[in-house]
Amino acid sequence: MPTIPTVTLNDGTAFPELGLGTYNLRDAQGVDAMVAAISNGYRLLDSAVNYKNEREVGEAVRRADGELGVGRDELIVTTKIPGRDHGYDATMGSAEASVATLGLERIDLYLIHWPNPSVGKYLETWQAMIALREGGLVGSVGVSNFTDAMLTELIDETGVTPAVNQVELHPYFPQNELRAFHREHGIRTESWSPLARRTELLSEQVVGDIAAAHGVTPTQAVLRWHVQLGSTPIPKSADPERQIENADVFGFELTDDEVAAISGLERGRLWGGDPNSHEEM
Ligand code: NAP
Repeated sequence: MPTIPTVTLNDGTAFPELGLGTYNLRDAQGVDAMVAAISNGYRLLDSAVNYKNEREVGEAVRRADGELGVGRDELIVTTKIPGRDHGYDATMGSAEASVATLGLERIDLYLIHWPNPSVGKYLETWQAMIALREGGLVGSVGVSNFTDAMLTELIDETGVTPAVNQVELHPYFPQNELRAFHREHGIRTESWSPLARRTELLSEQVVGDIAAAHGVTPTQAVLRWHVQLGSTPIPKSADPERQIENADVFGFELTDDEVAAISGLERGRLWGGDPNSHEEM
């Protein structure tokens, strides 16, 4: 079983360089898929209130402890606060509800799912999250789909820099400027839809050529590209064989030219999720 290395977040937490996306992993099959991932070396699980699978994530964590001997403290359980729960008191209530649904005693990484600028409450939400961290119900606090201007506002107003910003990131949308901002401020980038949801990305000639040069699959070449950009990809797979393939990207290295060639596929966002205008409740 490959060991997934970690990096240190700005709050001192050891954070895996690759994790498991769990969107659409639900019910008993979803739990089985998550337990398989943990047995295959995954230690970071990415959930959200809106994925409606916090119960399954909690069950997988408990099963991993009982069946695999992977203790609670070895895992990083992420969930995300939905737009409808923005605001100080609503955030407090939402966190408690998530902890209850997970059936765990804490959330390890708590993210604001979308900034929802029309709601106008992401700063208040962030202040509540800081209080939740101080109270111990939450381990690390971060955001998702935030722009550099929004991050600057959070930092300037509270003095607390998010540990993570989870954003759309794949070879079609490498997020060069935002990643540079993250680097400058010590924010860890996490890549959502790192495989571009298995669109034509995996059959791009450049990806295939680079994969062949290293004797790996196109998926592994893409996930290695994320790792070398300094971003934690969270590929979702329900299939244990594909989970193993996806995690096995720490035994080879792309050249700078290969990284640049994959980044050359850039064409922009794929699903219109501009944080300045996209609203998700
Ligand atoms: P993704 O991880 O880019 O792609 C998932 C798709 O790729 C699934 O259809 C999966 O099928 C397939 N796949 C996985 N490994 C493969 C392999 N080795 N070979 C071939 N196909 C493979 O897309 P995603 O699920 O949208 O994104 C990942 C995670 O990011 C989500 O699950 C979620 O946790 C998070 N996310 C966050 C946000 C946000 O706003 N913060 C938005 C979107 C997603 P199988 O399951 O059949 O393997």
